[in-house]
Amino acid sequence: MTAPTAWEPIIGLEVHAQLLTRTKIFCGCATSFGAEPNTHVCPVCLGLPGALPVLNRSAAEMAVRTALALGCTVRARSVFARKSYFYPDLPKGYQISQFDLPFSEHGHLDIEPEGGEPRRVGITRIHLEEDAGKNLHGVAEVPGQSVIDLNRAGTPLVEIVGEPDLRGPEDAVAYLKKLRSILVALGVNDGNLEEGSFRCDVNVSVRRRGTEAFGTRVEIKNINSFRHVQRGLAYEIARLTDLAERGETFRQHTRQWDDERGRTVFLREKEGSDDYRYFPDPDLPALVLDEAFVAAQRAQLPELPDARRHRLTSVLGLPTYDADLLTSHPRIGDFFEEILRSRPGDGAFAKRAANFVMTEVLAGTTTHGLEVSFPITSSQLVELLGLVEAGTISGKQAKDVYAAVQGTDRSPKSWVESQGMAQVSDASALETICQGLIDQNPKQASAYRAGKTNMLGFFVGGVMRETKGSANPVVVNEILLRLLA
Ligand SMILES: [Zn+2]
Repeated sequence: MTAPTAWEPIIGLEVHAQLLTRTKIFCGCATSFGAEPNTHVCPVCLGLPGALPVLNRSAAEMAVRTALALGCTVRARSVFARKSYFYPDLPKGYQISQFDLPFSEHGHLDIEPEGGEPRRVGITRIHLEEDAGKNLHGVAEVPGQSVIDLNRAGTPLVEIVGEPDLRGPEDAVAYLKKLRSILVALGVNDGNLEEGSFRCDVNVSVRRRGTEAFGTRVEIKNINSFRHVQRGLAYEIARLTDLAERGETFRQHTRQWDDERGRTVFLREKEGSDDYRYFPDPDLPALVLDEAFVAAQRAQLPELPDARRHRLTSVLGLPTYDADLLTSHPRIGDFFEEILRSRPGDGAFAKRAANFVMTEVLAGTTTHGLEVSFPITSSQLVELLGLVEAGTISGKQAKDVYAAVQGTDRSPKSWVESQGMAQVSDASALETICQGLIDQNPKQASAYRAGKTNMLGFFVGGVMRETKGSANPVVVNEILLRLLA
């Protein structure tokens, strides 16, 4: 964190999240990403005359679950409005959105910013709307031209408008990460910033510390990674602070983050809401969300990341760091809990399993939106950890077995047997080895007996060398202590 100046940044975020419905919000076209351009279109999403939109029920269901998870109230009767503007990727010349009567308001999000205090920030409103298409420049097939792909036009979005409660880049990143983890846990969004299914516009201004009124704000558009949010905000706060120091004024406008040059650049003057000529869409009835509908969605809410983390720390006694990491993605949390189910309620086992997952498994785990691919299945891992718990192999050997079975469908148990890796716990076999070592090293043995107890390590090491690390160290210790007594 940079040292505080006389100026305080005020930040509010607007997040657009694509809902994971199979079809678009007002027609039956598929929403799948990466299809051949302009193949998922129809008269409705192309805005052809006479085509009538019909609301997709599952978009409304996902939107309501989002609102409930963020502590928002749901309005029983909300209205779709046309937001008019001209842009090539908007075939109707207007976007169907919600304006003065959004379906949801007055929520909150609890954040734990890095290096800061946990706190609650406000959510002003959430509304439903449709996405636009995409303008593409410099496509290989049509060099030097700009073309339009309308496959995305009509994909359902929720726009989540946050209160200007954030006070620095760390707050903004914590807010976005928490919001994303909730949407992903709800299964309503895939959390993919790079592909634009989770997008964020940043509003930022600065004001003199201790004053109430906000300064003139700028908007930074479409920042597509957490790192860009951090860097873009740090840059813009410094720029606005510098302008404020020098007493320079400017008009509210929109900027864009240029990550290569590490600065924001002027994009356009900011439109006011009057410019959009909002009015209720005459083709769509009011959106009625009655109590039964809302209750049905509430009943389907899954355990959210905060609750899951709390359960792992308070019930199983895991450190916060472990719980954070293991709940950072819902599929990782599910994977970990499948392992825990083999030893329910066993906090010590949970800690050992957490260590193994964090140090070994997560290093080879890849995530892509909602998809997570693990290098080992949870049942293989349960079997592997079981071998350690039973004393068949040591913790060190477990890593070798893991390396051998990961990415395969091998059973850790059969692998251990086939390699003759089972830890030697057979006391009589070990006793012969221990006695042999003591006989061969009489000086060390008498030194131990004379009080140099750290000589024990010498003998333990010898047994381990002789058994190639497969001796059970607990059994070896017991035998040596007895023989050397
Ligand atoms: Zn369509």
